[in-house]
Order: sequence, then structure tokens, then C-alpha cells
Amino acid sequence: MFSPRIHILRPELANQIAAGEVIERPASVVKELLENSLDAGARSIDIEVDDGGLRLIRVRDDGWGLHPEDLALALQRHATSKVTDFSDLGRVTTLGFRGEALPSIASVAHVSLASRMRGATTAKILEASKSQMSPVAHPEGTTVEVRDLFYNVPVRRKFLKSVRTELGHLEETIRRIALSHLEVAFSFRHNQRLLQSLPSASRENGMERAAKILGHDFAEKALTLDFELGGLRLWGFAGLPTTSRAQPDQQYFYINGRVVRDRLLAHSARQAYADVLHTGRHPAYVLYLTLDPERVDVNVHPTKQEVRFRDSQIIHNFIVRALGEALALSPSKSLSHPTTHVIEKIDSEERYPLLKSIPNLRPPSKHFAPKTTPSERDSPAIVIHEGGEESPELLPLGHAIAQIQGIYILAENAHGLVLVDMHAAHERVTYERLKTAYSKGSLLHQPLLLPITVEVGERAAELAVEHAEELQTLALDIERLGRGTVVVREIPAILNGGDIATLARDVLADYAELGSSTRVTEQVHQLLSTMACHGSMRAHRRLSIEEMNQLLRDIETTERSGQCSHGRPTWAQLTIADLDRFFSRGR
Ligand code: ADP
Ligand code: MG
Repeated sequence: MFSPRIHILRPELANQIAAGEVIERPASVVKELLENSLDAGARSIDIEVDDGGLRLIRVRDDGWGLHPEDLALALQRHATSKVTDFSDLGRVTTLGFRGEALPSIASVAHVSLASRMRGATTAKILEASKSQMSPVAHPEGTTVEVRDLFYNVPVRRKFLKSVRTELGHLEETIRRIALSHLEVAFSFRHNQRLLQSLPSASRENGMERAAKILGHDFAEKALTLDFELGGLRLWGFAGLPTTSRAQPDQQYFYINGRVVRDRLLAHSARQAYADVLHTGRHPAYVLYLTLDPERVDVNVHPTKQEVRFRDSQIIHNFIVRALGEALALSPSKSLSHPTTHVIEKIDSEERYPLLKSIPNLRPPSKHFAPKTTPSERDSPAIVIHEGGEESPELLPLGHAIAQIQGIYILAENAHGLVLVDMHAAHERVTYERLKTAYSKGSLLHQPLLLPITVEVGERAAELAVEHAEELQTLALDIERLGRGTVVVREIPAILNGGDIATLARDVLADYAELGSSTRVTEQVHQLLSTMACHGSMRAHRRLSIEEMNQLLRDIETTERSGQCSHGRPTWAQLTIADLDRFFSRGR
């Protein structure tokens, strides 16, 4: 046998091979064309598609257009206006740079390219398959038409799904890109029906676009964040834990305006939400990371959806912190009024988020500091404020008025009424205190005067022995008494008065479930969260006004107190405007 001889591939074949990488389906064509329009500085882009994109895809923009002599060149492989030198690759600021999209598309479909440069008086059109250039009437900007996709690649065509499915992919691609550039107007027509029309939005009314794309539920329950540190900036819209989803289908992350699906970013976001979200639930968010293009390598994937950071650890920590702080500062939303919480430039030193939102507020007095000692917890003292009785506008959650059905606290503050789910709120406060005390190694042990014997089952009793040392660090002294019996002798002081038997059972059940595979802090947080749940005020317990006020003050000074550790909201504001609206009282 002779070894087979080598030859250079025909350009058409080379392009078809490249097309295999970047053009999978109609949605990939639209992605490439939209990126080109955005790179050309378009302010408005119209997309028209017939039959799921199999018959026709037409993208028209008002960008700066192509030089007439470049029309043919644009369809050549490795032809681009976006990079020149190797060094340019280290700081790519455009979405495209490989010079592959148009030739790839033209190798698997009938393409025409019409363009008029900004400032020019005439336009030209190039029919790629006929290599024919002719004058055409066209406004400033460019139109690319792609007909009969994969007409010459039957295998690919066979792999395409129904029009419905392809349309679904098209819509998702357009959603992703429309959220990447809020300032650009988009319209989308399918079989001449207008399916999406998005006027240009500024950053301030960007939430309106998010609402149009992700639904009003997202917009009503998302907070706006903007955080900057060390040349990194993260801004955007983060869904509150109370809008978590069963699927990770509303997670949009952008780096310098580029759509990415990056594991590092997804992981950072997951970690930021970990503390306020039930496992198995997924957060919804639209987040924009901007940074010096030299800090990120975009040339690692043909469709450029994956990136590589030069300092990935820094980026990871930055996102966890920025997002984590925004979530920690978020109060739950008002009951009926879709307002947006704007948290601008979060100061990391800011410890009292709610207090900040009230104008003319003096710095919190020492009475606002979270308490950790058991005696204060056990006998809720009337809180004495310096300068006598505080007026309601100085207290974000106001003064307690009544307890409703033994479940809710009704309070009045400067904005109207506040409703608090007392069990959920107390649980959150307790959990945060346990965490803080645990991390400082200052969990106070409370020996029980009468140790409590609990029937837990054999496996759990064994676990109590296995994990005795760790339980000690959690201020839990649980000892095996018999085959399936343990005795609890000591608990964290904060949990005094809670349901100790259930607490012991659930903590041991956590060990059974978590095993030792989970990361240590996550495990501890899970355990603390279980403990907080049982150490908290039960619903239906009568509270005095002083106890209720104490809880309100505790919520104000506790981070992440807007949700309980299961992600349910803990309190809600009913503003005077809400009440006016309810009673149809015009003002
Ligand atoms: P790339 O975007 O990687 O440069 P493409 O094959 O997508 O490669 O496009 C080739 C070139 O054609 C681009 O570099 C750009 O100069 C030009 N071009 C493509 N689409 C447009 C458009 N809508 N407006 C202006 N120029 C365009
Ligand atoms: Mg391109």
C-alpha cells in the first residue's frame, strides 16, 4: 500500500467544514449575522425569518455598512476588518474576529449581501452564488439574506427539527442577544408575523426590556445591582431567591457585551445564591461583567461562547462578592407594587442596608447591633433608644402594632404598613447569628439543666458518635445512650427554647444525607440552617409588642433578612400608595 498523497482542500470544501463548526441550525446563522450588525455599530436591527429559518433568514441593520469593494471580500474565508495583528487577538473588542461566518454561511446556503456605507449615496448588492454585483436601492446599513439553508448538505438538513423547534431556538438566540445590547432596537418577524419588538432601552429602563423578554414576574422580583472593584464591574438584574426556578433557563451572563455560557461565571453565581436558595432551585439573572479586554481570552471556541480569564480566581471571587452583597442587602418586595430596588455602588462597609434607604438617618446606635448573648435573647428587653422614643421614619420596619393569627406581625413605618412572617424572619435572624458566631468560633454553649433523651434510630445514633467532635464545634453535645437513643446535654445558647428533640433528629438526618462528601462550609451551613429552623419562634406563639419590636430591629440589622433560609420572603411592605390604589383613592 502506498501512503495517500496530500492536497490542499478546495475553498468551498474548507468553508463547508468550517460551517460544520459554527453553523448548526438557523439560530446559529442569526447569531452570526446579529453579531456582525452589532459590530458595525447598528442602532436598530430587523430580523425576518420564514419557516423556522429553513427557507429565509434576513437581517437588516443601520450600521456603518461595507465598502462596495469589500462586499466580495467579506465572503472570503479569513477575511475580516476586525483584527490585523497577533497582538489584536489579546484585546478583542468586537464580537467577531475570525472572518469565518459569512463564507461558512455562503457555503451552505444562497446568500446575498446588500450594503450602503454611512454617508454614501449609492448601494450595491452581491449575489454570492452568481458572483454578481449590481446597484440596488438600500438605506444606510446592511442587509444579509440567507435562503435555503443546507440545500447542499442533506445530512444537516435531516438533523433539523420541526419549524416549531427551530423557531424556539431562534427566539432564544434573539432573546440572548437583545439582552446583551439594551441600547439597540430589535424586531423579529416569523412568516411576516411580528413576534418581538424591542425599542432601544437605556440602562435605567433596561428592566423594561428584561420584563418583555423574561416576563413581568422576573422584573417585579429582581433587584438592580451595580458593583465596581479593581477594574471589574458587575451590573444587571438579579432575581430574588423568591423567584427561583426549577430549571436554569433564565440565566444570562455577558462579558463585555458578549453572550457567554461560561462555567466559572455560572458557578460564581450559584455560589452567591447558595445561601439563600433551596438546593435544586435555580436563580434567574441577567448580569453584565465588564473588564479590560486584555483580561479575557475570547479566542478559545469557534462560536466564541466560552472564554478564558487570565485571573479566573479574582473574577470568581469578585462575582460571588458583588452578587452576594446585593442579595444580602435585598429586602423582600412590596406586596403589590412592582418597584425596583436600585442598589447603586454598594459600599462593602455598609452594614445597615435598610437604614440606609431612609433619608436623614443618623448612624445606627449600638442598640442596633446584632446580639449574640443568650440572656438578651431569652428575655427580650424593651429596646431603649438614645434620645427617647424614635419616630417611625427612623425605623425602617417601623413599630409593631399587632400580631395577626399568631403568624404575622403588623407594623407601621414611614412608607405605610409592614407585614412580617414572624417564624420565617426569626429563623433567618437566628441562622445569620449562628453563622456569624460559628465563623468567629464564638458559639455560646448552653448546658441543659435537664438533658433530653431522643429516640433517633440506630444509624443516627452511630452518626452522633462518629461526628461527636464536629457536633461540639456546633455547640451541640449529643451522646449515644442506647442502640437507637441519644441524649442531648448542650445546645447553642441562641437556640434555647427551641424544639431540641426535633433539632437533634434533623441534624443527625443531615449527616446521614450529606455524608462527608460535601464541602465543609456548605455542610456546616446546612446544619446551622436546620438548627435555626427548630430554634426559632414557632408560629402561634403570643408575642408582646416589645418582643415584636425586638424582632423588627433584629431583621433590620441582619444581612439577608429579606428571605428565610428556604428562600421564602420574610417581610413585605404595603405602601400608602398601595393602600390608596386598593381603595381607589386618587391623590
Ligand atoms: P468577522 O465578523 O469574524 O470579521 P464575518 O465573516 O462575520 O467575519 O464578516 C466578515 C466581514 O464582513 C466583517 O469583518 C465586516 O467587516 C464585514 N461585515 C459583515 N457583516 C457586516 C455588517 N452587517 N455591516 C458591516 N460590515 C459587515
Ligand atoms: Mg462575524
